[in-house]
Amino acid sequence: MNIETLAVHAGDIHDDQFGTVAQPIYPSTTFSRNNDGSFREHLYSRYSAPNRSSFEQAIALLESGKEAFAFSSGLSSAMAILQTLPYGSAVLFPDDVYHGVTVQFSEIFAPHGMKSIRIDFSDTAIVEEAINKYKPALVWMESPSNPLLKITDIESVCLIAKANGAITLCDNTWATPLLQRPLELNCDVVLHSATKYIGGHSDMLMGVLVTNDLILAEKLRAIQRVGGAVPGAFDCWLAHRGIKSLAVRVRSQCESAMIIAKFLESHPAIEKVLYPGLTSHPQCSIAQKQMKHPGAMMSILVKGNAMNVANSTKIFTHATSLGGVESLIEHRASVETGTHSVSPENLLRLSIGLEHPDDLCEDLDQALSAINT
Ligand SMILES: *Cc1c(COP(=O)(O)O)cnc(C)c1O
Repeated sequence: MNIETLAVHAGDIHDDQFGTVAQPIYPSTTFSRNNDGSFREHLYSRYSAPNRSSFEQAIALLESGKEAFAFSSGLSSAMAILQTLPYGSAVLFPDDVYHGVTVQFSEIFAPHGMKSIRIDFSDTAIVEEAINKYKPALVWMESPSNPLLKITDIESVCLIAKANGAITLCDNTWATPLLQRPLELNCDVVLHSATKYIGGHSDMLMGVLVTNDLILAEKLRAIQRVGGAVPGAFDCWLAHRGIKSLAVRVRSQCESAMIIAKFLESHPAIEKVLYPGLTSHPQCSIAQKQMKHPGAMMSILVKGNAMNVANSTKIFTHATSLGGVESLIEHRASVETGTHSVSPENLLRLSIGLEHPDDLCEDLDQALSAINT
């Protein structure tokens, strides 16, 4: 079956009593036991619950994974994988890894003896050298990266990491399983902030980890069940519903993104467009090799005051986050607080929504005219 078909049906529970076509929401925290004291499918909702299991089954299928574990946010899923590592482990991160992961590591894990090494993952030779030198327990990839849109050669990095006994993770939030499936490239774990494309409507917060490694799965199951950072029934239901329309949303957003990237690349107020679909992108060919399409996220470097541009758009909203039906524009340097930011002052990140691309180009064009006002 094709992924579009799977996405519509995967994980659905059908209610025989009423023949519901849409899956019901089951808010129950507790479930009755059999007469012999044994448990039916669910026991208590921190352990598992119907809507959570449905969502987990659906995302596991889409990512070609055996097991999925939903958490209450993307960052709590990041926390779960880091909690599986032994005390004192080293973790290799991309230098522009999602900012929240950097902050989480330095505030929560570094004080407990964990070490992080941040390097440029767009160059596999640098990654190989760092793996040999630091012997990390975990190699963390994010491709395309945020906000510099760098591409990591996932398959090559996984090969080197595995030969050195490291677990590999790929944050697949930006690509979605429609465009890229890291588990098929030999990666051990996929992470999603379901808050973004999976939910797709900027109205829920959730995260998920998907894996084929059954030993790792047992550790994650324990962290999920007794750590307890689990999502509620309604959020799981929204995320599962989001999956059903993911394919058409992403396809349309990608088509528009390509049009907008080309438009911006020839615009006189733009210094550079960072988008892996452009031949000017240094890892364009790797993106082509491992992704079905370069995606719907891009960053632009403007010739002048970026904040003025972000404040002058009429359709794009100046806000953080991404992957929703509405287009967003964001000045990253001012949101990445602390000392870790790698965003240039003139960088704006764009999340392309479902509006007509001509309207979005026109909006950016008028906003760019405000650049030096
Ligand atoms: C948003 C995001 C996260 C964090 O997810 P939350 O749901 O906000 O906790 C992690 N990685 C990437 C790439 C993201 O965009």
